[in-house]
Amino acid sequence: MLRQVAEGVLIHESGFCQSNAVVVQGRAGVLLIDPGVLGYEMAALANDLRELGQPVVAGFSTHPHWDHLLWHARLGEAPRYGTARCAVTVRVRLSDARAKARIAEQLIPPDIAEQVPLDLLGLITGLPAEMAQIPWDGPQVRIIEHQAHAPGHAALLIDERGVLVAGDMLSDVLIPMLDLNDTADPIEDYLAALRLLEGVAGDVDVLVPGHGSIGGADQVHARIDQDRAYVHALRDARVPSDPRVGPSATFDWMSGVHERQLQQLARRSERDGTPG
Ligand SMILES: [Zn+2]
Repeated sequence: MLRQVAEGVLIHESGFCQSNAVVVQGRAGVLLIDPGVLGYEMAALANDLRELGQPVVAGFSTHPHWDHLLWHARLGEAPRYGTARCAVTVRVRLSDARAKARIAEQLIPPDIAEQVPLDLLGLITGLPAEMAQIPWDGPQVRIIEHQAHAPGHAALLIDERGVLVAGDMLSDVLIPMLDLNDTADPIEDYLAALRLLEGVAGDVDVLVPGHGSIGGADQVHARIDQDRAYVHALRDARVPSDPRVGPSATFDWMSGVHERQLQQLARRSERDGTPG
């Protein structure tokens, strides 16, 4: 079920929302980034890794959203990491007794809710903000932290392999989804994150979005430009000309996401008395 996208870097695409789990081979085992969503898929992934003789030696969640925080018992008990800000956000959001039930009821689509194991949800350790790399015995994985999409979101750059794991940005199927809860200036946060990714784009041969198709070197700037154009349209309350929303969209619910973002931004600017 694993597909190699670069030397020592393999992915598994979930049946849910084209979610990509990323496996990076190290010296004594693998780093597993955003393991997946459906229980049977994560179990199958664990089996494949076992057959390859590759135990999971570290995990990483790119950001504090439920579909990036899951784990399966068969993946073992390796340390799981996120940025410090991601870990704090997870801890706060899961702090009350009803948190998981609420996630199951309100966030997970009903048709898959029973297939999503929540018992090991969000058990991550925050890495200190000054730690620029994931601590593990394998190719260096640089953490590029920003505040677009979710607090403490990390993109990961595996320099030696030319791979950028983008988390929930630079997707060919999902429009930029702004963090409209936790930030003072969600538009600028998103644009700043795109500039950060643009800064490393020259080193990237393979782009792995959290959801959607793997991109080659030619896709990196194209997707950055596409995301930026969408965010500009959103900022200016213009109709975006973007294939990810509208009649040709992969997901028909994307236009609803766009409408909600427009409304929430309008409400924010009314409240703050500021344009945009
Ligand atoms: Zn997300």
